[in-house]
Amino acid sequence: MDAERARAALKDLGQPGYRWEQVRAAVYAQAASSYDEISVLPAEVRRALGERAPILSLSRRRVSVSGDGRAHKALLDLRDGKTIETVLLRPSPTRWTACVSTQVGCAVACSFCATGLLGLKRSLTAEEIADQALFWRQYMRAEALEGRLDNVVYMGMGEPFACYDAVAESLRALLDQKRLGLGARHVSVSTSGVAPKIVQFGRDFPQVNLALSLHAADDDLRTRLVPMNKAYPLAKLAEALKIYLRETNRKVFFEYILLRGENDRDEDAAALARWLSGLGPAALLHVNLIVFNQTDTAHSPTAETDARRFQEKIMAAGFKATIRQNLGRDIDGACGQLAGREETR
Ligand code: SAH
Ligand code: SF4
Repeated sequence: MDAERARAALKDLGQPGYRWEQVRAAVYAQAASSYDEISVLPAEVRRALGERAPILSLSRRRVSVSGDGRAHKALLDLRDGKTIETVLLRPSPTRWTACVSTQVGCAVACSFCATGLLGLKRSLTAEEIADQALFWRQYMRAEALEGRLDNVVYMGMGEPFACYDAVAESLRALLDQKRLGLGARHVSVSTSGVAPKIVQFGRDFPQVNLALSLHAADDDLRTRLVPMNKAYPLAKLAEALKIYLRETNRKVFFEYILLRGENDRDEDAAALARWLSGLGPAALLHVNLIVFNQTDTAHSPTAETDARRFQEKIMAAGFKATIRQNLGRDIDGACGQLAGREETR
């Protein structure tokens, strides 16, 4: 929802100030999916708002649910006919996390990612980004799903720091207690490493979690996996992260997809530990090892025992390291599998 547009429409209609409070409470607190549900509004106001300030900027084409019910993936139509995917995950019994997209496709073209294969079609608006969370609130209400959607991760399609302004505005909608009302510490933004924006993000949103998709601590290897490493190589990233850590004193999460025979050897773990040790206090550096989800690419996943060994090496060097559980693989809704097409296989 574009709150400004809705307020302006109410003003044009000559409505008193409390009308916006009624709309706001219905849309954000009760997850109303249509103005017709807001019975305190006069009928002509409902109709006019529906035309001038629709509650959602995107519409549901299809939702798939994983066998265990813990991952729901929606294919959404945007107004210009393009499509995106967004995922609702239930990592624990009563808590839900929305994984939102920031672009249609992605220009970074990481070698392992389904979104990267599409190229970049366009960036989303702030409204389209925040509306994905609103969409899931409405969905949870319609499906009577128990629990609360109180986490949002910017880990869907697209590179958030390639459209920083829209992402920043969407974060303000998410964190506004009068709108989506999420706690800053329950929101995470993942970037493939746009160094200058890391510094800016730390200044603009010091309480929001930052995740960096690292995947390799060697420039040649990282450039092969994440081509943007050419523009922002490891030394530039380290510089930006040092500033971020010094200014925010917040934990940074490093995502590292384990790819068999490519970045999962003992010397890769040693290089990673070495690189991390120059950044800041070990207590602020958390490595999130990610099991590779199959995409139409030439990579294959590291075996579980090797993943454990890699994890132990990082921990032995004094850093926190976890292996990320993957929800939603059976519906191609896990990390890196989002393509926003009718068929993703
Ligand atoms: N563009 C941003 C955010 C979206 S990608 C970024 O790259 O950080 C979100 C996460 O999914 C990233 O850590 C990314 O590396 C990971 N990912 C991409 N493809 C994957 C795959 N095939 N298997 C597992 N994780 C993947
Ligand atoms: Fe883009 Fe992230 Fe996929 Fe890389 S991993 S292509 S940055 S969405």
